[in-house]
Amino acid sequence: MMTYDMDEKSINEKLVKSGLRTIILVSQTSMKRKQITAIRKQLGLRGSADSGPLPHSETILSSREMILEATLFMNAYLLIAQNPAEAIDNLAVISAHAHYLECHGSLRGGAVDQDVYLDLDRAWVIARDYRAMNVSMRSCNSCHTEFVASSVCRRFNCPLCSGITVEIPTEGEPRPLSELAELSSSVSKALNWGSNDEELCSEMGISLSELTVAKALTTLSPRELRALVASEASTSAAIQALQEHGSLQFMVA
Ligand SMILES: [Zn+2]
Repeated sequence: MMTYDMDEKSINEKLVKSGLRTIILVSQTSMKRKQITAIRKQLGLRGSADSGPLPHSETILSSREMILEATLFMNAYLLIAQNPAEAIDNLAVISAHAHYLECHGSLRGGAVDQDVYLDLDRAWVIARDYRAMNVSMRSCNSCHTEFVASSVCRRFNCPLCSGITVEIPTEGEPRPLSELAELSSSVSKALNWGSNDEELCSEMGISLSELTVAKALTTLSPRELRALVASEASTSAAIQALQEHGSLQFMVA
């Protein structure tokens, strides 16, 4: 959370004013429902009419149009948010959503297209699921556009050059070691949260042997990790080293 010159009270007011659903406000602040209603009353605001469970990011990101809308939001959010991979930056969600709304409107002569508009609650869900690694940024192999995708999808259609699919490498053609090195810090974080191997593989879209290598990479010092990546050793060599020696130490010696 951005807390530099804002106290909790003004942050809470800002969050209530933004129009975020009560269920989100309750989960993100120390406010009770009653307090939220009181602040709304005091500010002359009406609460969101939406109730029930929040939508899943998988559902939100099920069409090409919505992937594009969510990408506009996420590009702004990832620029503004502090440590978006570790925490939901609620104030950054609000700022990024305002920026997104401006982009959305400017493409439509100032109007909002309700059919594809990513409302604030949905934008917040995307930010939450990015932190939970259920949503990630993917790069199109063909046009190199970065776009938001739900991690449960194993195949992705690039929203710009539709028809061309970006596939996660399957077993047999492992990801390069440099890519696994980048993933390794997320892997160790997820392990600390208690994710099991199966969950991790499906969340990160990697195979079990790639996960084993990513885990082994977390045991190396930053200097050893850099040296190993710089040596351009292959992931297959790392898998073999782990099978034979149980560690990657000898590869960096
Ligand atoms: Zn593309």
